Amino acid sequence: MKKKTLAILGSTGSVGRQSLDVVRQNKDALSVACLSANTNVDRLSEQILEFNPTLVAVGSKQAAQELKKRVPKETNIVTGLDGLCLAATHPEADMVVTAISGSVGILPTIAAIKAGKDIALANKETMVAAGEQINATAKEYGVSIIPVDSEHNAIFQCLYGNERKDIRKILLTASGGPFFGRTAPELKNVTVQDALKHPNWSMGSKISIDSATLMNKGLELIEAVALFGVDQADIQIVIHPQSLVHSMVEFIDGSIIAQLAPTDMRLAIHNALFYPQRVESNYASLDFFGRSLTFFEPDEETFQALRLARQASITGGTMPLAFSAANEVAVEAFLQEQIGFLTITTIVEEMMMRHNCIQQATIEEILYADAEIKRQTRTYIDKHF
Ligand code: MG
Repeated sequence: MKKKTLAILGSTGSVGRQSLDVVRQNKDALSVACLSANTNVDRLSEQILEFNPTLVAVGSKQAAQELKKRVPKETNIVTGLDGLCLAATHPEADMVVTAISGSVGILPTIAAIKAGKDIALANKETMVAAGEQINATAKEYGVSIIPVDSEHNAIFQCLYGNERKDIRKILLTASGGPFFGRTAPELKNVTVQDALKHPNWSMGSKISIDSATLMNKGLELIEAVALFGVDQADIQIVIHPQSLVHSMVEFIDGSIIAQLAPTDMRLAIHNALFYPQRVESNYASLDFFGRSLTFFEPDEETFQALRLARQASITGGTMPLAFSAANEVAVEAFLQEQIGFLTITTIVEEMMMRHNCIQQATIEEILYADAEIKRQTRTYIDKHF
């Protein structure tokens, strides 16, 4: 097997670190050409010393100066969004792992596709904001987009050897997050710490809050529409607290194929990095004895995010972007304790109502709308809270 060389965007985050762990365990098959991080110079310098990348991108000039003091002189360090695009298009890389969080991933992902790189997609906001444009560009340049998100990777695997036209529905599973079973009045005063405590997965703070509000599942619903070309009405959300069934696909003949694996993101990353091959791994097997798998209907009354996501998907155009961009800002405000937990979704709904939706937007229009929605959301929060 030819060695695969990776550019990992967002290497100090949760998925980035776990991707490097997969590289570490498969040194003969995988190597790293580029790493990128926003500000975490401590962790990034350790990764540079271990993986010896050709190019490293950081968020700011200040971070670059800090980094220079700690890594070998010959390390090529670039900065900002331009730097991120250089890392995404580096000639040595065969595949780009997009593990950054937020819409900052849009331009580097498009640049990587245009440079002919396959994408291991872990940045769901990019697919939500610009799914149509990314699909069209990937088709034009003949590159594959392989989902890393555990649910989408599961659906992707359920579709091996099957045709998309034969899908009856997708059953998108959700753990329910830390607040599964609670009602809105019980959630009014939850703290940032409560919301960060995910029962099954250890993840970054943005996605942990999104899991608590079920915004994450809303974003994943829109992501699934973009990745698998199905209608939102054909996606059913199923609460599955054990997080062992990572999603399922029901086909027109009534058969359902599910993908199961231990709750460890590295399995999904491993699958995506080696696709289309199956490569042996040494993760512990799932032990079924004494376990139960349970499934529940989601409480859309308490978790309004699911209704808003469906509404955004039905409207289409830049409405999913409005849903995602307003949420990014509202989550930041919640993490800074400026707004309460339930206010996150209230703000997203308000910003969706104010949004002048554009159909078939260009990438430039999307980037402009993204900045504009975020600015308006910040102004709205500062005015009212
Ligand atoms: Mg997921």
